[in-house]
Amino acid sequence: MNKRKNEESLCPLCGGKKKPGKVTYTVESESGLLIVREVPAAVCSQCGEEWIDADTAKSLEKLANEAHKRKVQFEVVTL
Ligand SMILES: [Zn+2]
Repeated sequence: MNKRKNEESLCPLCGGKKKPGKVTYTVESESGLLIVREVPAAVCSQCGEEWIDADTAKSLEKLANEAHKRKVQFEVVTL
């Protein structure tokens, strides 16, 4: 059990509580659209705003680059 205080802090937008959850992320590239499911994120229980950490953002970027190289126009993947 590691304590991840940041994810349990308050939402800077509305002051609601952030909770760890999974979100669906849409990445747009020059060639098309990539939908990434099951992305771990902190989600505000009040306004629904989502935050992903730097590692997750890097993974998404990598997926988007690969999709772009393969000239994917539309794809749904799970992280
Ligand atoms: Zn909020």
